Amino acid sequence: QGYTLVKDGVNKWRIPKFGKMRVDAVVYVNDSLKELLRDDQSLRQLVNAASLPGVVEPVIGMPDIHEGFGLPIGGVMAIEEKGVISAGAVGYDINCGVRLIRSDLEADYFTKDILYKLIERIEHYVPTGIGKKGRHKGITRVIFDDVVHNGVEAVIKAGFGKKSDLEYIEEGGKLEGADISAVSEEAQERGEEQLGTLGGGNHFIEIQKVEEILEENLAEKFGLFKGQLAVMIHTGSRGFGHQIATDYTKILWEAAKRYGIEVPEKGLAAAPIKSKEGQNYYKAMAAAVNFAFSNRQIIMFDVIRAFEDVLKKSEEEMGFKLVYDVAHNIAKWEVHGGKRMLVHRKGATRALPAGHPQNPPSYRDTGHPALIPGSMGTGSYVVVGTEKAAETFYSVNHGAGRRLSRNQAKKISKEEFERSMGDVVYNVRSYKDIVDESPLAYKDVETVVSVFEERGITIPVAKLIPLAVVKG
Ligand code: 5GP
Ligand code: MN
Ligand code: MN
Repeated sequence: QGYTLVKDGVNKWRIPKFGKMRVDAVVYVNDSLKELLRDDQSLRQLVNAASLPGVVEPVIGMPDIHEGFGLPIGGVMAIEEKGVISAGAVGYDINCGVRLIRSDLEADYFTKDILYKLIERIEHYVPTGIGKKGRHKGITRVIFDDVVHNGVEAVIKAGFGKKSDLEYIEEGGKLEGADISAVSEEAQERGEEQLGTLGGGNHFIEIQKVEEILEENLAEKFGLFKGQLAVMIHTGSRGFGHQIATDYTKILWEAAKRYGIEVPEKGLAAAPIKSKEGQNYYKAMAAAVNFAFSNRQIIMFDVIRAFEDVLKKSEEEMGFKLVYDVAHNIAKWEVHGGKRMLVHRKGATRALPAGHPQNPPSYRDTGHPALIPGSMGTGSYVVVGTEKAAETFYSVNHGAGRRLSRNQAKKISKEEFERSMGDVVYNVRSYKDIVDESPLAYKDVETVVSVFEERGITIPVAKLIPLAVVKG
């Protein structure tokens, strides 16, 4: 492999810089998770990222790290102002992220029969699967320009949700600096049609039960209680962000050669932040970020309509309220240790501690909730970051992380798959369609969450378990 891993305290390993690395890399894993990285290129990918111009010490692997294109999934790379911006270090699904909605409903009321009705109704409203067009495309086409420049506020104006939702979305649902003129026609066409769709693969709408409260005070402030029904939504910027990532990987790769920047692999294609190409990528990425926040807003609206139809109660009666919406594929300007830097998070979630000024006012005193989905058969967590998270640029893992590649997971038998799903209700006709999303394909979420907890970087607040899942 060529690199050495040196133990650096609780659940932390360091790869001291060598060769072309400008800074060290670190990875947060315990012994069992470290073992899983043996046949995977993810640490090599951190080493490559550590060679990019302007990179800030250290490049970081999260506890759920696994191999990606360029930067690994579960990678955090901060770059100073005079350095580079990389499309591959944000990922293909720009602003893929998670949103959690709480309710006043008791989960035990939801029999299998009701759950089946709910997921059927949710699928009636929310188009799922690859390449599907949005049901609201009549409206979303008209407001598209407003959406990409102004984010969730634009879809709220069009009737999808309430103004107060904005306080419960990272960045208030809008990343500054978006400019549609930096986005190709092709991306725009895909975007206009796909706003308000879930997409395929690992994207999901999950009806969950709060199984356990792990920190009473914080849970209460987040509106969570034991036995409660909640809904988690995981999706991103659909074909819009994917096309932007494809376009700019090519553009930045060519640009790197012109600027004489050595990029170790195409997946890390990068150009100076201040160059025309770098600036244009940022403008296009911000457009996709705003699209994705808006996409999750529209889907939340549709999910609540489905509940209204099936339970014959109003949104207010059911007590639905957005807990939080976090991005996990994004590059953002932040200040760390007094220095302004562009933090690339790919498969990593920001987790600001209590008192941090960039928290929304609603969570200034607690730190905002960070959302960690596990799998459709196990559990998911709500955590908050602590001051100690400064060592990860206030970043935490975004999931349990894959243990098996999609191809490996396809070999799981029907019996094993069904056993791993337990009593969870799901929407798929053939197990073959979702076997690669089996809970067995993911790492053990308890173990992954414990890595940062043991290190004092996060405080787990609640554990949620799946009751029913709509998979893309
Ligand atoms: P990614 O953004 O990398 O595609 O996925 C994020 C994480 O979501 C994965 O690492 C996995 O732990 C989790 N996940 C994938 N599918 C599901 C699901 O159906 N339900 C829940 N709760 N989590 C999932
Ligand atoms: Mn995701
Ligand atoms: Mn995604």
